[in-house]
Amino acid sequence: MKYTSTRNNSLKIDSALAIKQGLSTEGGLFVPEEFPQISLEEIEKIAKLSYVEKATYILKKFLTDYKVKEVRECAVKAYSGAKFDKRKPAPLVKLSDSEFVLELWHGPTCAFKDMALQILPHLLTTAMAKTGEDKTVVILVATSGDTGKAALEGFKDVDGTKIIVFYPSDGVSDIQKLQMITQEGKNVCVSGIYGNFDDAQTGVKTIFTDNEVKEKLLNKNYVLSSANSINWGRLAPQIVYYISAYCDMLISGEITLGDKINVCVPTGNFGNILAAYYAMKMGLPVNKLICASNCNNILTDFMQTGTYDRNRQFHTTISPSMDILISSNLERLLYDLSGCDDKVVSGLMNELRETGKYTVPGNIFEQIREFFWAGCCDDYFTKERIYKVKERHNYTADTHTAVALDVYNQYKEQTGDNTKTVIASTASPYKFNESVLSALGKESEMANKDDFELLELLSKVSGTDIPKGLKTLKNKKIRFNNVCDKNDMLKAVEKFLK
Ligand SMILES: *Cc1c(COP(=O)(O)O)cnc(C)c1O
Repeated sequence: MKYTSTRNNSLKIDSALAIKQGLSTEGGLFVPEEFPQISLEEIEKIAKLSYVEKATYILKKFLTDYKVKEVRECAVKAYSGAKFDKRKPAPLVKLSDSEFVLELWHGPTCAFKDMALQILPHLLTTAMAKTGEDKTVVILVATSGDTGKAALEGFKDVDGTKIIVFYPSDGVSDIQKLQMITQEGKNVCVSGIYGNFDDAQTGVKTIFTDNEVKEKLLNKNYVLSSANSINWGRLAPQIVYYISAYCDMLISGEITLGDKINVCVPTGNFGNILAAYYAMKMGLPVNKLICASNCNNILTDFMQTGTYDRNRQFHTTISPSMDILISSNLERLLYDLSGCDDKVVSGLMNELRETGKYTVPGNIFEQIREFFWAGCCDDYFTKERIYKVKERHNYTADTHTAVALDVYNQYKEQTGDNTKTVIASTASPYKFNESVLSALGKESEMANKDDFELLELLSKVSGTDIPKGLKTLKNKKIRFNNVCDKNDMLKAVEKFLK
């Protein structure tokens, strides 16, 4: 199976090259030419297998140029052993008859990004070997908080790679910042920027598409790649957990083979929900994909009107990993819904760059209405939802998951649909402890406590254990406290590689 670009579909390359390169040279995103299918019989067959085996089985369908043995080795390094704190990397927790929380944050950095970023470095180094690459791959990351840390953890001390991460210096939580600036490893670099996530992402994209920069780096034996969710090697592993969740519901008797489920995802860059769409394209029985946004509700408006318009105010919220106005992966959805029309996609992306908005053709909009439902939730209702879910189900959700739980509730009220719904839980509540504790009404107990005392308090209030990765932060040294202008990102890269 070959991969092509959303902006040039005459391109045909293997998955290894797509993963190594990250982004296509003309700025498009790599997508598989067709979608491998998974039958109900196959789903039933893999249901009882371990997560590693499920991942191997599903990923092999996309990575046809990898040997099964290679895929399995990558999956073993990522999902077994010491990296995930439970035997199951992605457990499903039943809240009510229709709500099933898919906890994707049991990895080393306590956010769902670990699900993909623990395996990506291995898929990438395998790809380097397969394509005869002898240069050092430089991973360039723009992060709204969680990707950065997860990528740093995934790539730290991986031979043949270096990684540099840019984050908006005032756009991440204290814990997120601390996680990044204390990062260990000999091949890592972290820098804040004065700007928001979109500025960071735009800066990274600019460096990527600059041919002069590319030449300069090549001469020094470096090649750039990305660990952002635009990399196919990040997206593919995310398909696995939706199929795994379906398997878990089969095994627990919640559904019978062939029953449809809904999937509700707290969305930012549109990677996670796109993976659910791809799972549906493969044959997973899905009724609706519910796209949940915070008050940066550009996707809600888009899905309700067909017009994507980024000419609006950017809001900093208590769910910062969703504070995004340009959802890069939406381009892949548009490509698919346009019937793989690179001209249509290039046109829309040009409009977006030049005017900040675009309106999709009617045939694309109709399909969006058919497959998706979208809603949003502001900080007030996010907090209220955290409180309600704790009261009703004794479950402590983080702020991002709470957005999804709230939007799911809106969906259910407005449609009356009782279909069992998998709600993606994308971060541990400990990662956003201040907002969560305040939502739970613990303000007076929070007074004068530092971040680590807050972790203890949340442990007491929620009756759960503090994740290992956060508990040990306290004793770590700060290694990276520099912040640069958003126009100086290239300089920071050059300095790191000197
Ligand atoms: C990255 C992230 C999201 C958004 O996921 P996308 O794939 O970018 O849509 C949501 N919640 C958390 C906690 C995240 O880290």
